[in-house]
Amino acid sequence: MKAVVATKTVKEIRIDVDKCTGCRACETVCSAFHAKPRYSSVNPARSRIRVVTDEINDEYVPVRAGNFTRAECDGRHFYQLNGKQYSECSFCRAACPSRDFFIEPDSGLPLKCDMCEDEPPLAQPLCVVACLPGCLTYEERQVETAVDETEEREAMARGLESLVNQHGIEAVIDRLKRLSKGL
Ligand code: SF4
Ligand code: SF4
Ligand code: SF4
Repeated sequence: MKAVVATKTVKEIRIDVDKCTGCRACETVCSAFHAKPRYSSVNPARSRIRVVTDEINDEYVPVRAGNFTRAECDGRHFYQLNGKQYSECSFCRAACPSRDFFIEPDSGLPLKCDMCEDEPPLAQPLCVVACLPGCLTYEERQVETAVDETEEREAMARGLESLVNQHGIEAVIDRLKRLSKGL
C-alpha cells in the first residue's frame, strides 16, 4: 500500500439514529442531486445514502456509501438490536459485489458519498439539509491523514472496467479523448 501524509479538511456527517424517522428524504435528494442532468430524476437506487429499515421495531439507520471493495469480506458478524438480528452487511458502507447497495443500477459503477461536491460548494450536504428531524448534522475539522493511493486507483480501475464492458473500449477511449480536449 502506498500512502502519503497530508493535512486536509475532513467533512463529517454525524448520525443520531434515535432521531431518524425513516422518511428517506435523504435518499431522494441524494439521487436527484447526482442525476444527469442534475435534478432530472429521483431514484433511491442511485442514492449514496441508504436507510436500513425495520418498520415493525421502528428502527431506522441511515448508512452513507463508503469505498468500493473488490471482494466481499470474511467478517460475518451479527448485531442484535432490540431483539432483531442484523447482519454485518446491513450497516456496512462498502460498495461490495455481494449486494446491490451502492452500485449504480444501469452502469454497475460503485457509488460513493462525495459530500455533494459542487462548484460553488454547497453550505451543507443536501441530505443534511433535507433531514428535518435532525438525524444528520454536518461538521468540518482539520486533520493530518494518510491518503491510500492504491485503493483510489483500484476504485478507478473498477469504474473503467465497468464502462468498457458496457460501452466497449473504443467508445471509452473516444470519450476520454474528448474530455481531455474539454469537449
Ligand atoms: S432524512 Fe433524516 S430522518 Fe429521514 S430517513 Fe434520512 S436520515 Fe432519517
Ligand atoms: S457488504 Fe460489507 S460486510 Fe457485507 S460482505 Fe461486503 S464488505 Fe463485507
Ligand atoms: S452528502 Fe451528498 S452525496 Fe453524500 S449521502 Fe448526503 S446527499 Fe448523498
